[in-house]
Amino acid sequence: MTRQDEWNERYAASLMNTFGPPKAVLARGMGAHVWDVDGREYVDLFGGIAVNALGHAHPALVQAVTAQLQTLGHVSNFFATSPQVELAERLLALLGTPGKVFLSNSGTEANEAALKLTRRTGRTHVVAAEGSFHGRTMGALSLTSKEAYRRPFEPLPGDVTFVPYGDSEALAAAVTDRTAAVILEPIQGEAGVLLPPAGYLADARRITSAAGALLWLDEVQTGIGRTGRWFAHHSVPELLDSPPDLVTLAKGLGGGLPIGATLATGAAADLLEPGNHGTTFGGNPVACAAALAVLQTIVHEGLLDHVEFTGKRLADAVASAPGVTEVRAVGLMIGADLDADLGPAVVDAGRDAGYLLNSTGPHTLRFVPPLVLTDDDVDVFADAWPGILRAAGEATR
Ligand SMILES: *Cc1c(COP(=O)(O)O)cnc(C)c1O
Repeated sequence: MTRQDEWNERYAASLMNTFGPPKAVLARGMGAHVWDVDGREYVDLFGGIAVNALGHAHPALVQAVTAQLQTLGHVSNFFATSPQVELAERLLALLGTPGKVFLSNSGTEANEAALKLTRRTGRTHVVAAEGSFHGRTMGALSLTSKEAYRRPFEPLPGDVTFVPYGDSEALAAAVTDRTAAVILEPIQGEAGVLLPPAGYLADARRITSAAGALLWLDEVQTGIGRTGRWFAHHSVPELLDSPPDLVTLAKGLGGGLPIGATLATGAAADLLEPGNHGTTFGGNPVACAAALAVLQTIVHEGLLDHVEFTGKRLADAVASAPGVTEVRAVGLMIGADLDADLGPAVVDAGRDAGYLLNSTGPHTLRFVPPLVLTDDDVDVFADAWPGILRAAGEATR
């Protein structure tokens, strides 16, 4: 019995079975590499679901968190701390629009806060997209389209209309003067890295503005450098002039420390009033210090440019193997379709070959590695990739 087998047995006996059996039991990491409890090394092309922006054990993150915890670890929102204020200021500066920030602990919480905020418009109707993923708490789940996630928990709160993602006409038809908000991912992550047609997000801005509804972009996965920009929606010129009313962030923001942020601009920034919403841990100085270190390191290490360059290299490598029918990539957010339903088998074969991979569906893979992934990591993976696909094919035969 390996150490992993032993931990897996204890895991199964003590943790709720919400995630299925773990793919590996991991012990430590460095950069884009991790090691399991038996000492096997893996290249991490999953990044803890687009979270480990700086990879594992980045000295800047370790130093910032350690120093903050040695100074002041938690105070509650009866009090303020400087990392909290500095982070809010920094996020608004990066967004490029005046506004206000609510800090929480996860993506779903960032979306819950935004959903509650939309109710303060006096309207209750929300339009979301088919294929969307916005989180697992009841409010965020009401905006998430996947039937398998929703059905066991119905009735869900809310008055939500789902429209096909990327279809401006359908969106225009669904939005009325009863609509509080339209929520969209700039790129759908859990759906397998789906990009909307050019002009869709600009159309969404025009449609919501005309109806007096809020445009809410869920950048939980796409934000903080993932696409080679601070925010994925910054690639849309119209949104630089006429920004979204709400932007939610989480995954990459804390580099592994739990943090979520709800950014509101214009009149939306003042919709939540004292007593409307709260959190005990949100804005915790350790999580905020981590986020500040992530933002600073992205600048110091030139990671936005690095993401663009390395993302192209990785996307080319993924696309070059036989059996890959389509690759969709923006920065280090890459989806790949296969010519057969090999997704889970590829994840297993990848692990056996020393790579942490992810499939979002039967024939779709998603690569969201640390932003610090090196060219060497990509080249080593490129050599192994055709063999991983072959092994997955043989294992399912
Ligand atoms: C992951 C994700 C969420 C949920 O974040 P959690 O931290 O898991 O609650 C919400 N929206 C998008 C787009 C995501 O990718």
